Amino acid sequence: MNLDVGFRSRRVRERLIKLLQKKGITHPEVLDAIRTIPRHEFVYEALGHQAYDDTALPIGHEQTISQPYIVALMTQALLQGDPLQRILEIGTGSGYQTAVLAKLVPQVYTVERIGSLIRSARQRFADMGILNVEMKLDDGHAGWEEKAPYDAIIVTAAPTRVPTRLFNQLKMGGRMVVPVGPDRQDQQLLALTRTEEGFEQQDLGIVRFVPMRQGAR
Ligand code: SAH
Repeated sequence: MNLDVGFRSRRVRERLIKLLQKKGITHPEVLDAIRTIPRHEFVYEALGHQAYDDTALPIGHEQTISQPYIVALMTQALLQGDPLQRILEIGTGSGYQTAVLAKLVPQVYTVERIGSLIRSARQRFADMGILNVEMKLDDGHAGWEEKAPYDAIIVTAAPTRVPTRLFNQLKMGGRMVVPVGPDRQDQQLLALTRTEEGFEQQDLGIVRFVPMRQGAR
């Protein structure tokens, strides 16, 4: 990974880290992943100067790279509990959240429904020497059955309800972080832990993600 950052870039990254800490992100490894992963490589060159602001940015195809605070919040929620070995992400998008996870977890699987987003994310991983990510073009409602079960699942597009097939690919005791709610409106960010009886639910707050759509293209 290219860690050769200039003074200005290091300074703007530190400003972002301080902001995340102020907002309640305390996990040192999550903060460190956000500090070292070059978010400017995941956005259009023309938006590079905004890459370390705490905002979502367009990545084409009406999709967005998530706000750093939300990436940090979801990652921190996933990392509570036992160390994770294998994790599934739905909604690769730019690949930024994937790259954060790849720094923290030995094996990351990621599913995206738009082929050209997969291709550019794959190129970024290759350029950064990220080798522990496997990608698949598909509708994430079906998860990635062949590689299941997972220690954790993160969904970065909003389904209207929790997709059962996906949830069933979690290990017992595993956790899914998912924004659930109607298209283009506020959604509830949930952390669901799989139990023998079903699941335990923790609410992480209100968020706004792009909708989880049907089918792949
Ligand atoms: N984590 C991404 C956020 C991308 S936005 C990032 O950091 O850049 C959400 C992504 O979910 C989009 O790329 C969108 O195409 C994808 N998506 C939407 N519905 C999906 C589905 N059913 N299966 C897989 N990916 C989906």
